[in-house]
Amino acid sequence: MSAAGIVIAGAGQAGFQLAASLREGGFRDPITLVGDETALPYQRPPLSKAYLAGKTDRTGLFLRQPGFFTEHSITHRPGVSAVAIDRAGRRLGLSDGDSLAYDHLVIATGARNRPLPVPGAELDNVHQLRGLADADALRAAIAAAQAIVVVGAGFIGLEFAAVAATRGLSVTVVEAADRAMARAVSPEIARFFRGVHEAMGVRFAFGASVTAIVGRQGRAAGIVLADGRELAADFVLIGIGVVPNRELAAAAGLPADDGVRVDAFLATPDPAISAIGDCARFPSPFARGLTPDGTVRIESVQNAIDQGRCLAARLNGKPAPYAALPWFWSDQGMHKLQIAGLAGPGDASVVRGAGDAFSVFRFRDGSLSAVESVDRAADHMIARRLLAAGTHLTPNQAADPDFDIKALAMRRP
Ligand code: FAD
Ligand code: NAP
Repeated sequence: MSAAGIVIAGAGQAGFQLAASLREGGFRDPITLVGDETALPYQRPPLSKAYLAGKTDRTGLFLRQPGFFTEHSITHRPGVSAVAIDRAGRRLGLSDGDSLAYDHLVIATGARNRPLPVPGAELDNVHQLRGLADADALRAAIAAAQAIVVVGAGFIGLEFAAVAATRGLSVTVVEAADRAMARAVSPEIARFFRGVHEAMGVRFAFGASVTAIVGRQGRAAGIVLADGRELAADFVLIGIGVVPNRELAAAAGLPADDGVRVDAFLATPDPAISAIGDCARFPSPFARGLTPDGTVRIESVQNAIDQGRCLAARLNGKPAPYAALPWFWSDQGMHKLQIAGLAGPGDASVVRGAGDAFSVFRFRDGSLSAVESVDRAADHMIARRLLAAGTHLTPNQAADPDFDIKALAMRRP
């Protein structure tokens, strides 16, 4: 490879991991990490958990301290956006007027929050939560508020509601679907976490759609629902999902609808450009029967890290298709939810365990698709082994409390 090296657009979890893994694997040419945020690359999960709750400070978020970048000859260009790709000339145009030559370009631009398209959404104290600046604004807002409305009972909405309720705020969560985390988890898990939140004093409005945010003196004072109900709030948090940052790729003529399209090796149709992380749509062995074309876009730390590692291996001369098992976690109140695999809304459920610690085994067409565990870390680890190895478990075996699933998972193929 010539001296232009690898340019990475997006200095988040995936872009950072790629840079670090390239050096770990012996890559010697230049690496440039271009990021539109001004901070050092940082992890987002604590923004809706420990950092939001004031239990960890800013330095605890950084993926590495500043010395790491100089020691590993990684050029980090913070506060600069990648604005255009010249594919023929192999250059990436930047928002400060500069452009960078590349031998290989990696699009790791992540995702941004989906806006709520209602009047009043632009008011001052209508918040979102994606980055450090959002979390800082929310920490200040929580300290000054008594009653709040959260729109969206997904991961952001529920993790945020748990922190706010613990701080004594009156919290109402408004959700368009008829249950919490409807796309991500089974009805059993949704029901359990609804109870957890209600026990903390959180109120829910399911099947509810927001038609306006009411303003008073330029600030949000509450929301209006389609059925005419009004809910007062000192501030509103919108957490209704994300859209992939696909525009850079699309403008360069690369296929990018719901995500930048890549193959099993995370390569776009341009052999000099790849994409990883939240912005990438890829074929997954775990998505069979889940989506019409077997491709998915996964929004998780595990996926960002494993795709960074997978692509680094290819760029270091050791190509392998991306086949890492997807897994997730969420902390809500005193409980930890862990998910291994990818379930669809129609997948069947088999529950093991009871009370506050249980797992839901999900089956699609008779095969295990995912396991969702509440405070059952051992089940989660067993599920990861089963799913990664493709070991067959029947719904009857999962339902039988005397069946030794661990022994099945530990069996050599
Ligand atoms: P990002 O980390 O978003 O990084 C992309 C970066 O690219 C950003 O800095 C963005 O500003 C930048 N960028 C975008 N466009 C450009 C451009 N044109 N030029 C330059 N830079 C650009 N996942 C879990 O698995 N578990 C959790 O508990 C969890 N908690 C979360 C909590 C919060 C509050 C949030 C917001 C996310 C959470 N996630 C969690 C999701 C996880 O953080 C993401 O899936 C992960 O960060 C994706 O990594 P990424 O590098 O693809 O995207
Ligand atoms: P999300 O998990 O996709 O949840 C969004 C929720 O809002 C969904 O339940 C969605 O319902 C609902 N919704 C959509 N439009 C709505 C509307 N107009 N009114 C009311 N509800 C509406 O996304 P998120 O919670 O916003 O999180 C954003 C990103 O951060 C995601 O990438 C997420 O994975 C990540 N994150 C992850 C974690 C974790 O893994 N622990 C924690 C925090 C954040 P439908 O599904 O029916 O559209």
